[in-house]
Amino acid sequence: MLIVMQKQSSSKEVDQVVGIVENLGFQAKVIPGAERVAIGVVGNQDYVEDAAILRLPGVSHVIHVTKPYKLVSRDFSPENTVVTIGELKVGEGCPPVIMAGPCSVESEEQVFSTAEVVKKAGAHILRGGAFKPRTGPHNFQGLGEEGLKMLSAAGKANNMPVVTEVMRIGQLDLVCKYADILQIGARNMQNFDLLKEVGKIDRPVLLKRGMCATIDEFLAAAEYILVAGNSRVILCERGIRTFETATRNTMDLAVVPLIKEKSHLPIIVDPSHATGKSSLVMPMATAGIVVGAHGVMVEVHPQPECALSDGIQSLDFPGFNQLMEQLTYYIQLKR
Ligand code: PEP
Ligand code: MN
Repeated sequence: MLIVMQKQSSSKEVDQVVGIVENLGFQAKVIPGAERVAIGVVGNQDYVEDAAILRLPGVSHVIHVTKPYKLVSRDFSPENTVVTIGELKVGEGCPPVIMAGPCSVESEEQVFSTAEVVKKAGAHILRGGAFKPRTGPHNFQGLGEEGLKMLSAAGKANNMPVVTEVMRIGQLDLVCKYADILQIGARNMQNFDLLKEVGKIDRPVLLKRGMCATIDEFLAAAEYILVAGNSRVILCERGIRTFETATRNTMDLAVVPLIKEKSHLPIIVDPSHATGKSSLVMPMATAGIVVGAHGVMVEVHPQPECALSDGIQSLDFPGFNQLMEQLTYYIQLKR
């Protein structure tokens, strides 16, 4: 529920409404606006009776929000959220952010050479997995802390923040020692306990869409993080499962403008996992930028044919340079 105050309401009247909402056992989030203040009611499971609230001095009207998410919605925060990572800004009105690097960190050589090349080509953030959620237990599972150390060192050497996946609560402290952005992977999008924990941490989160998640489920997952106190969330479309098998997943491009209608959070696209095919990465990354994504995440490897994970969809160095040339062209066109 959203309680909209009258234009001329006083801060005393706002405080009174907040007190009453809290007495009812809910959280009250004061949302200042250019013209009037609104108060978001969070924590109610069901419809909240509004008769008593409507009678309070200074209250204009009440909007009942029945969606499974509130804090992530534009109803609660009409202004766009810009997530800052050091000096970098991700969100509406900022140049699209490019996150690039190997699927998995495999060796110092591999991650340092990739970091250098992607940085030189214009990427802003270095990606690389150290804890890998692989479909089979016999597949490479990642280098763990050794991988985190290499990733962080390669990031520092090239002046790039790093993003890496955390798969469970028990890994959080360790991953936080090295990561500038915590990635929640598609398979963990509905690991609600993990979402609640990253919500308590002051670190940006890259939340990937679950492969079978609807847009409402995706936003409800982000809501878990915001409710717990962390609003530095970047959403990522990485393709969904459909009947089509020619691509690894189906890249749902409409989700970009649609999420921008529904939510104030930034959204980026990951054409590597969305297509599973390196030749499709450049056109689909470009498409993402054209429909308004706030950034792109792509997998890059010095020798994709030898990669320990996701080589088929990884760009080699010349491929990444070409991608950056094309993206730069389209980013300039949009300005
Ligand atoms: C990844 O980024 O390497 C990854 C495993 O992504 P997703 O969770 O989208 O499959
Ligand atoms: Mn991967």
